[in-house]
Amino acid sequence: MSEASHAVSTPRPLRVRIAPSPTGDPHVGTAYIALFNYVFARKAGGTFILRIEDTDQERYTAGSEAAIFEALRWLGLEWDEGPDVGGPHGPYRQSERMGLYREQARVLLARGEAYRCFCTRERLDEVRKQQLASKSEKLGYDGHCRALDPAEAERRAAAGEVHVVRLRVPEGGATTFRDHLRPEPITIENRLVDDQVLVKSDGFPTYHLANVVDDHFMGITHVIRGEEWITSTPKHVLL
Ligand code: GLU
Ligand code: ZN
Repeated sequence: MSEASHAVSTPRPLRVRIAPSPTGDPHVGTAYIALFNYVFARKAGGTFILRIEDTDQERYTAGSEAAIFEALRWLGLEWDEGPDVGGPHGPYRQSERMGLYREQARVLLARGEAYRCFCTRERLDEVRKQQLASKSEKLGYDGHCRALDPAEAERRAAAGEVHVVRLRVPEGGATTFRDHLRPEPITIENRLVDDQVLVKSDGFPTYHLANVVDDHFMGITHVIRGEEWITSTPKHVLL
């Protein structure tokens, strides 16, 4: 569980969420994580939110959302805000919030905190092959497009050239965050963090962008999720 540092100095009403993706039969992991969010919210008189993360068009399966609702209700894990019950921070389905992600991607681009990458699949495959061959410490994007002139990149994008938008991870320094289940803060060096794709070539946001934008605008105070997300957390903190 990680907590935004600003939440410490400005106490806000506790708000937690689960954010399942409707990509098949309800996952037991969704119920498991929902339980912790639910009891944490109920114990503190906070708010438990259900958000559907359905921006991955390839993995989307019809009927899966309804099955998630049914499974969670059957377990007694009622949510206070969600796609079917509404709430003040809706809509609660990411596919209905696309304008917000586009807007936030533009803000990041304008600030130079994100950049457009025009690399082809072939180039990226080649980079990866070389990294594997040289047993590079870091696998991932090599920063090829970081130095592109932003005005030039805007022109190429406007002309319809295929590209993605990437997070400009600082070259130096490190990112630190608290996992409240561990005694010590976790620190990950920025040079080991990949320039994550935020907007895919089809214009859809990746999980990372949509998830962080929503946690921010939905006023989420604590993130409780599976431990496999710890390695992604530096990207989320930077975002
Ligand atoms: N959509 C993500 C999932 O299905 C949410 C993970 C998170 O809680 O940030 O696992
Ligand atoms: Zn590139």
